[in-house]
Amino acid sequence: MIVEMVTGVNVEQVDGVVQRAKSMGFQVQLNLGTEKTVVAILGGNTGQLPTETFAVLPGVESVTRIMKPYKLASREFKATDSVVSCGGVKVGGKGFVVMAGPCAVESEEQLMEVARAVKGSGASILRGGAFKPRTSPFSFQGLEEAGLKLLARAKKTYGIPVVTEVVDPHEVSLVAKYADILQIGSRNMQNFALLTSVGKSNCPVLLKRGFSCTVTEWLTAADYLLAEGNNKVMLCERGIRTFEDSIRFSLDISSIPVLKRASHLPVIVDPSHAAGHYALVPAIAKAALAAGADGILIEVHPNPKEALVDGLQSLSTSDFARLMKELKPIAEAVGRHI
Ligand code: PEP
Ligand code: MN
Repeated sequence: MIVEMVTGVNVEQVDGVVQRAKSMGFQVQLNLGTEKTVVAILGGNTGQLPTETFAVLPGVESVTRIMKPYKLASREFKATDSVVSCGGVKVGGKGFVVMAGPCAVESEEQLMEVARAVKGSGASILRGGAFKPRTSPFSFQGLEEAGLKLLARAKKTYGIPVVTEVVDPHEVSLVAKYADILQIGSRNMQNFALLTSVGKSNCPVLLKRGFSCTVTEWLTAADYLLAEGNNKVMLCERGIRTFEDSIRFSLDISSIPVLKRASHLPVIVDPSHAAGHYALVPAIAKAALAAGADGILIEVHPNPKEALVDGLQSLSTSDFARLMKELKPIAEAVGRHI
């Protein structure tokens, strides 16, 4: 339930709403905007509560019952776009943010070469997995902490923040020591222990869409992060499983405008994991920019043929440089800059 206070509300009036909610056993989250104060009443059974419970209190303008299961990620809770600052790079503003790098950190040479190339072409965040959630236990699982240390070295050398995946709730503080953005992978979107643990950290987080999850389930998962107090949440569309088998996953381009209407959180698109093939990546990346995404996450490898993970969908550094050039006029046409 969302309680919108009148413009010019005073502290006692806000406190009156907070105290009533608490006395009934609900949790409260305050959103103090420059113009409006909004109080979110959180709890399992707010759906059964009459709106008059709060509407009668002084200073209340309106009370809206939230039928959707997500609250904190919603536009009703926060009307203005959230901008997340990641190691100095703002995601969700006018800039279109390009995050690029290898699927997995493989070696110092590989990471340094790709970091230099993507930074040189205009990427502002370096990606690279140190912990890899692989479908088979016999596949390369990542360099783990050694990989994180290499990311830290690349970050320092090239002055570029890094995004990397965390797969275990007990490793959140370890990964957050090195990362500017914690990535939660598609397979972990509804790993509630992981979400809660990442929510307790203060690190920006990129929540990938579960490949068989709806937008509503995705935003409800984002609420797990927000409810723990981490408001630096970004969403990442990476394709969903449909009946279509001509592509690895179907990139749900429509989720961009759908999310923009429903939520205040920045939206990133990962064309690589949807495409599954390097030849399809540039067109999807350009479509994402045109459709209103705040950035893209792209796999780039200095030698895709030799990549340990996801080589087929990785762009070479020269293909990436070309894509960056092709994105610029599109960004301009839609009022963004790269
Ligand atoms: C990745 O980004 O390398 C990855 C494993 O992505 P996803 O979780 O979307 O499959
Ligand atoms: Mn990958």
